[in-house]
Amino acid sequence: MGYDRLYIDGGWQAPGNGSFAVLNPATEDVVAEAANASLEDVDRALAAARRAFDSGPWRRTNPRDRAKVLWHLVERLERRKEDIRSLLVSTGGAAWITHPIQLDTPLTLLAQYAEWAERFSFEEMLPPVPSIGPDGNRMNHAMAVYQPVGVCALIPTWNFPFFVTVQKIGPALATGCTMVVKPSPFAPLVDLLIAEEIEHCDLPPGVFNVVTGESPALGARMVESPLVDKVSYTGSVATGKKIMAAASTTLKRVHLELGGKSAAIFLPDADLDAYAMYALTPAFFHAGQGCAMCTRVLVPRERQQALLERLQTFLRTMVQVGNPADPNVTMGPVIRSERRAQIEEYIESAYREGAQLVTGGKRPTHLPKGFFIEPTIFANVTNAMRIAREEIFGPVLSVISYEHVDDAIRIANDSDYGLGGAIYSADIPKAIELAKQIRTGSLNINGAVNLLHTPFGGFKQSGIGREGSKWGLLEYCEIQALAWR
Ligand code: NAD
Repeated sequence: MGYDRLYIDGGWQAPGNGSFAVLNPATEDVVAEAANASLEDVDRALAAARRAFDSGPWRRTNPRDRAKVLWHLVERLERRKEDIRSLLVSTGGAAWITHPIQLDTPLTLLAQYAEWAERFSFEEMLPPVPSIGPDGNRMNHAMAVYQPVGVCALIPTWNFPFFVTVQKIGPALATGCTMVVKPSPFAPLVDLLIAEEIEHCDLPPGVFNVVTGESPALGARMVESPLVDKVSYTGSVATGKKIMAAASTTLKRVHLELGGKSAAIFLPDADLDAYAMYALTPAFFHAGQGCAMCTRVLVPRERQQALLERLQTFLRTMVQVGNPADPNVTMGPVIRSERRAQIEEYIESAYREGAQLVTGGKRPTHLPKGFFIEPTIFANVTNAMRIAREEIFGPVLSVISYEHVDDAIRIANDSDYGLGGAIYSADIPKAIELAKQIRTGSLNINGAVNLLHTPFGGFKQSGIGREGSKWGLLEYCEIQALAWR
């Protein structure tokens, strides 16, 4: 398939601004030229989505019919699985160990939204109550109706592009919304592939549109447009703030999935041999480009050295940096050269502020091409240092030691962010009690991961709203009260 067209109003259209190059971050080669939309293209896509919502049949379809469309899409995307994998590797630098999350989980999530469309009660009867009117005292009946929120501007990011897009289009389709997807210019091809499959899924024209392009002005246009009812954005805090401000002029619903600086706490009774491997993850998994990764590791002062030894052992035995086209590679590049330069700036700041480099910090010498950087660990980090306060979005782990458990909780909470978190301990009831004291959207104990059934989203500046399961579904509903007597 070519990627040089936009999917608007049920058909493929030529873009107003030609094309732009999508790079392979491991080789710096051009993977494909993608359609480069103009602002007029965005306007046409939004107008199509508005028409489809206001006068098309989609929002009035029986939810079971929407489920059929979703099941059909799941089936078609399953058949394209190897094409999607190939794009995740070539445009995202995604090593094979990330594929269960990059590829398998979103397919399951999409199937779950088909199930939600089948089984969710879009009309909920409420208890009748008597009320006095001009005609006397009579029973009032009432129900809550879960209506689709309307036209959605969906702006996913590049690090888990298939996953993030599916988390938005799954519930949007299940509830009867219409949408324009504007993917990141770093990883736009998978969204065009989804459009290619949706074209065969019996969806009315205009319900689903994809507009790819290089300019940030395209997303900004969607956020400002009076045709849009809701924006769902996944990306950085800085852009999230701009989106919230711009959306305020029309009071759009704003759903923001933003960054994090999460803390993993080793309690004094934690088994270091069992859990050091989990704590190492942000130093190599997808080159540290994950929003909820625990990039701060908090350990009792007297156990810091023992933890560092184990982290280094796992790093030596598990991590192979290289081109993820090779399935043996466990860590690929970061997405772009300028993002690597920012990561290097953070590493420089750590030296200046007195952190101790344990390993990494440089570009691997055996990989002259590609945006690679070594897995990097700093010890003796304090929570005041920039590498502990700001999201680096690269393979840099900060180990911070603490004296008492109360200290650890205070340090974990001393952050503008609140997205993920972890506790390692032999005492799970105690860990659960401590977890409740941490202001964060999710927290995993002893390496537990559940991306399928739990709500996902941020406290504080990590975002507004929740994705996943029924919480994701509710984000795409307006709740209407109907009463009669
Ligand atoms: P970014 O700020 O560079 O966002 C870029 C995207 O926003 C592009 O598509 C761009 O065109 C668009 N954009 C830029 N300005 C805009 C504006 N004014 N209005 C509308 N759209 C605009 O962020 P990024 O590099 O794409 O994402 C990395 C961030 O994503 C990290 O902070 C990471 O933590 C976060 N993230 C969060 C989650 C989550 O679920 N919480 C998941 C993955 C990534």
